[in-house]
Amino acid sequence: MSKHSIIPSVNSLLILEPMEVLIETHGRRLTTDVIREVLANIREEIAHSPEKQFSINETKIVGLVSDHLAKIEAPTFKPVFNLTGTVLHTNLGRAVLATEAINAINDVARRASNLEYDLHTGRRGDRDSHIEEIICSLTGAEAATLVNNNAAAVMLVLNTLALRKEVPVSRGELIEIGGSFRIPDIMSRSGCRLVEVGTTNRTHIADYEAAINSRTALFMSVHTSNYKVEGFTNAVSESELARLAHKHNLPFVVDLGSGTLVDLAHYGLPHEPTPNESIVSGADLITFSGDKLLGGPQTVIIVGNSNLIAKLKKNPLKRAMRCDKFTIAALAATLRLYKNPDKLAERLPTLRMLTRSVEELKALSERLIPTLKNILGENYEISGAKTFGQIGSGSLPVENLNSFAVKVTPHKKRGKGKALKEITTKLRALPTPIIGRLQNDSLWLDLRCLENENEFLKQISMLRIK
Ligand SMILES: *Cc1c(COP(=O)(O)O)cnc(C)c1O
Repeated sequence: MSKHSIIPSVNSLLILEPMEVLIETHGRRLTTDVIREVLANIREEIAHSPEKQFSINETKIVGLVSDHLAKIEAPTFKPVFNLTGTVLHTNLGRAVLATEAINAINDVARRASNLEYDLHTGRRGDRDSHIEEIICSLTGAEAATLVNNNAAAVMLVLNTLALRKEVPVSRGELIEIGGSFRIPDIMSRSGCRLVEVGTTNRTHIADYEAAINSRTALFMSVHTSNYKVEGFTNAVSESELARLAHKHNLPFVVDLGSGTLVDLAHYGLPHEPTPNESIVSGADLITFSGDKLLGGPQTVIIVGNSNLIAKLKKNPLKRAMRCDKFTIAALAATLRLYKNPDKLAERLPTLRMLTRSVEELKALSERLIPTLKNILGENYEISGAKTFGQIGSGSLPVENLNSFAVKVTPHKKRGKGKALKEITTKLRALPTPIIGRLQNDSLWLDLRCLENENEFLKQISMLRIK
């Protein structure tokens, strides 16, 4: 090394003007720690290749410190572009909220609220009061309550009504959802005993009847929302089960999963069961998620008989599973949109995305393709292509949604696997990551959920492909 050290001291760096800006943003302690780390790295580099000492200067060090701080402070949890073709993608956060719901969260986040305060009496109130009336009017139910998600609802119902008792469930309905919700496991953790009835493909009312004894607590029907049993099959209808349950004075519970509050057929989509249909069939309690087809926040709505809902609310587990004020505010605002079904497909993002026409998506692809060709054209072939998407989160497992995608295919001269890996990795590394779907040696960017075209193009313009 030369006679005076090339590497500046921590203190001399801390008083530089650009460093003061970093200290203001990130704090003195973190900035100092990062300076030390950056200097240690530089010393190590110089030890390996002494010629590097001549390229070190203060501006460069400030740049390294700034980059390092930005990396440390960057949130790990951030928005992404969901171009997978699955509209309600559990790993990508399921439903996108309506503006009305986002504003409602904002309002209760900023100020105190009457979450559990009755403004008429001045006494303690009930947080369910903000949603119960509107849910009852939309579903035709007597009473309603909320907990954190459908898995919690099933646990709460079973633990309240079937603790140390038996619950017969059809072998065709012992479902697993998203890897961790498995009916047999939830039942044992709820403290009740599952009695399997019927077979995988065929279950008859006589199978349920034969399972009834003095320890039977209730009947439960589980919507097989993520698969379909086809061929030589038989399932017992909700109304048959309700009749048998009531003959033996047992409650009948339906785990509906992705219940929707409107008939999707009105919007040109395949029909999905609604909670109201289960009520009409005679169900006493129905559970359905808030962040699936309903298009709201993560929660579950439990509707049904008011005596049973009152029992659920008395279980101490209810307190352990209760929803926070943001969820209640967002759900209440989402439910209010259902009061005007004519505007729903415009205001509710889930329904808006599900009802976009293939022609609209195709036109969008034509606007995007020139930019994509410009940036990726040297290494990839870019084209528009018809594809199939899905609703996701256990709705309509068999019906596919006609959709349209931009297809990114590596040119022949390159190793296909490597080129696909490179593009998907780079898309995931963007400030707002872009997530597509790999299929048949191409990357498919399904455009159904792409609503912010300009931001997408801005992200694409940041791509650097060798
Ligand atoms: C999705 C689903 C669940 C789990 O719901 P979460 O809200 O994800 O806990 C349970 N049962 C059925 C039938 C479902 O479709």
